Amino acid sequence: MKNPLKFNLIDHPLVKRDITLLRDKRTQPEFFRAAVRRLSNILAVEINKDLKLKNVAVETPLEKTKGFKLDQEIILIPVLRAGLSMVSGFLDIIPECKVGHIGLQRDEETLKPVEYYFKTPKLNSGSKIILLDPMLATGGSASEALKYLKKKGGRKIVFVCLVAAPEGIKKINKEHPDVKIFGTALDRELNKKGYILPGLGDAGDRTFGTL
Ligand code: URA
Repeated sequence: MKNPLKFNLIDHPLVKRDITLLRDKRTQPEFFRAAVRRLSNILAVEINKDLKLKNVAVETPLEKTKGFKLDQEIILIPVLRAGLSMVSGFLDIIPECKVGHIGLQRDEETLKPVEYYFKTPKLNSGSKIILLDPMLATGGSASEALKYLKKKGGRKIVFVCLVAAPEGIKKINKEHPDVKIFGTALDRELNKKGYILPGLGDAGDRTFGTL
């Protein structure tokens, strides 16, 4: 097979249950947000098996023993607006994370995504940067966001989504071969308007009730 997709699917019965809830057009924003938060909890655990630890001493009520502390800065970068929905689920599991934000909008002439907001903590080469966007569709804004993060010094970057389309994965694999992609569903294709099929519709609208 030529260039198989490089995509890390986080597969679990609870993931399948919650993705189904997200897909269901009857799911109201309150329940949609709760499912995104649970999926983000699972992702925060599954994608961080490589985090660096340092040894610390800890005293239990009975005796001293060995313990561990995270030894790596972790920075979450949600892509505005839908990426915001994943932040609280990650912070539930890793409250030590710092959070930066990136906003992209389409330039009316070039039709390319351009940055309109960028505010992040200093991106050190040792920091683990987790770029969050629930939908990896064409990959245009994800690729642009990755370029900005690299330009600002980010090196260890992963991209985390809920639903991915093959088109977006291909683009990121090609333009950012160093960036691992994680997600909870791999869907069939994009429609002419750039929506993922079968997908779940507009993740931002469904999260924030702006339909
Ligand atoms: N963004 C969304 O919110 N949904 C899609 O299907 C594609 C991009």
